[in-house]
Parts: sequence; structure tokens; C-alpha cells
Amino acid sequence: MENTVYNFSAGPAMLPVDVMQQAQAEFCNFNNLGVSVMELSHRSQDFISVATQAEQDLRDLMHIPDNYKVLFLQGGGRGQFAALALNLMGKNAKADYIVTGQWSKSAIAEAEKVGQVRALDGFVKAENEQGPRALATEWDLDPNAAFVHYCINETVDGIEYPFIPETGDVPLVADMSSTILSRPVDVTKFGLIYAGAQKNIGPSGLAVVIVRDDLLDQAFPNTPAIMDYAALAKADSMLNTPPTYAWYLAGLVFKWLKRQGGLTVMGERNKAKADLLYNYVDASDFYSNSVHPEARSWMNIPFQLKDDSLNEAFLAQAKAAGLVALKGHRLVGGMRASVYNAMPIEGVQALVDFMDKFAKQQG
Ligand code: PMP
Repeated sequence: MENTVYNFSAGPAMLPVDVMQQAQAEFCNFNNLGVSVMELSHRSQDFISVATQAEQDLRDLMHIPDNYKVLFLQGGGRGQFAALALNLMGKNAKADYIVTGQWSKSAIAEAEKVGQVRALDGFVKAENEQGPRALATEWDLDPNAAFVHYCINETVDGIEYPFIPETGDVPLVADMSSTILSRPVDVTKFGLIYAGAQKNIGPSGLAVVIVRDDLLDQAFPNTPAIMDYAALAKADSMLNTPPTYAWYLAGLVFKWLKRQGGLTVMGERNKAKADLLYNYVDASDFYSNSVHPEARSWMNIPFQLKDDSLNEAFLAQAKAAGLVALKGHRLVGGMRASVYNAMPIEGVQALVDFMDKFAKQQG
């Protein structure tokens, strides 16, 4: 099956075609068991093999050391906004949150329910009021905070860190929802990494948490068991019935990533895809992107048309050309192309070709 449509959705997002085809081929009869993987008990050896293989493949891809637990959980990214605060602020209810956009802001709302949170501006002061703001590399951090939280890739704003913040002895906690697995990352620099699955991992309904062992003893005593990382780790993420089908699909995506050559290869491809679109936008006087060049996301690329009144026509014609889900987030407007791992460079080229045709058509 060839791709007839390129799907630029921010999430749930496009999955690799190979993965969908494999899932389809074994949908009713998994491993010749005569049943679907989604009909297997999570306690069965057949499913436990799927689950442990997925974890091992993720560990291999990200080079996750043995002193980190990998959890496959429910509740998406927002579930972890709450869970991480409950798990890490029980002994010291103070945390610093670096704010760079919509998602880092949203994360604060959950932490504020259980402790004292300081919101730190993630940008340096702009040289002029209109110009794009560069990411700060230093913050007024509290050395006694339980952790520092940041969002590596702001899905709505199209802002991505090209570096890992230095936080000294204070554990660094990262929302990696929309950039996990898109390029290599040094896991040892983090106390905790979490990600909703529906962008680069698999279908929604699953969240992955990678947490350093020494942070597993800081939960509030009244943390619900279903959010308690230590209890979940002890139960191999099977304290209750996990989202088994989503876990299985994530495992297929991890195998696909390994077949592509791993995260170094994905990083090169993602950079090439992003460069293609940003270079076109920068050279055009019809489209624009207002993010500081060093903070531009490789995964979510917002762009504006010269005239907002053309947005509807742009979207309709793009859809007719097989380029879907390009509408920008309601808070930002304009367009947004999400180009996660599953998006081939041909899709980005098709988008650039369409954009060029559309701009010329407007004269
Ligand atoms: N963090 C980021 C960076 C996101 O992009 C999203 C969802 N788009 C979330 C958190 C929230 O994820 P969920 O909808 O799975 O709760």
C-alpha cells in the first residue's frame, strides 16, 4: 500500500505504514495463536513477551541505563503532569518549572495542586520587542528544589531545545512527548523523562516514563497506586490492566526504528526534513515562521500565510492535494506541519511543492 495522503497531524499522528501493515496482517491471529494480541491476558506469557521485548527495544534505542525504570502507563502526557508532581514532591514540595510555551505552562497547573512551584521564563530578553526570543541557557534556579521541569519540544509553539539544561544536583524532569525518539538524547542527564505516545511512539492511551531509581522514594504517601511509580515499577507496569494493544503497537514502532538504523539515522532524517521546510519558508515572502532560528522544532513547524484570509483556501486546496491536518493550533492560528518520525521526506517535499504552487497562484 502506498501512502496516498500525507498526514501532518500533531497527535494522534501518522504511524509508519510498515507498522500498520504488520498490525493488520496479525490483527486476528497473533503469532498463530488464533486470537488477536488485544484478546490476550496481560498476565499471559504471550503478552508478557510482547511487553518485555518492547521495553528492551526502547532501552536499546535510547541507551537507557539499568538504574532507570521504564514504565508503560495510562493517562497520556497530562496524566504524567499530575503523577510526576505526586511522585517527586512528597518529601520536598518545591519545584522549578521553565516556561517556553503552552505545554510547559499546562504542566505547572498540576504541580501547583500539591506544592510550591516557581515559573521561570525560558527565554532571554528580546533585543527588540518584535524579534524572536532565544532560549535562555541560565535560570535563577533554586538549589533546594525537588526538580526542574521543562518541555523539550513545545508542540503548539514549535519551539525545541537543541541543548539539555544544566541544573547541577537538582534532578531534571523532561516532557518529551513530541520529540522522544526523534534524535539521540543522553538519558543520564535526566532524573525523569515522560512522553504521551501519540506522536512518535504509537497510538494514544499510553504514556512512557523513564525514571531514575533513586527518585522512587519521594512520593506523597497518599499518591493513588495507579500513579505511584514505585508501585508501578514493582508490578512491571501491570498493577492494573495496561493498554495492551497500544503497548504492542509501540513495540512494533520500536522494531521499525531499529530497522531504520536507530536514533542517529532518525535525527539526520528529521533534520533534513525540517531544513527543507524552514529553508523554503525563510526564502519565501509569502510564508513566515517567527521562532528564533536556534529554537526551531524539528517535529512541529508552524508557519503563517502573508494574509490570514487565505487560510481556508490553503487548507482546502492542501487537502485536495492529499496534504491533511495542517491547521495550526487554535491558540496560535496559521498552519502547523507536524513531521514526526513516520513522515517521509517525500511528504515534506510534497508540502513545499504545494506551498510554492499556492503562493504563486496568489500572485
Ligand atoms: N505535553 C506535550 C508536549 C504535548 O504535546 C501534549 C499533547 N499534545 C501533552 C503534553 C498532553 O498529552 P495528552 O493529550 O496525552 O495528555
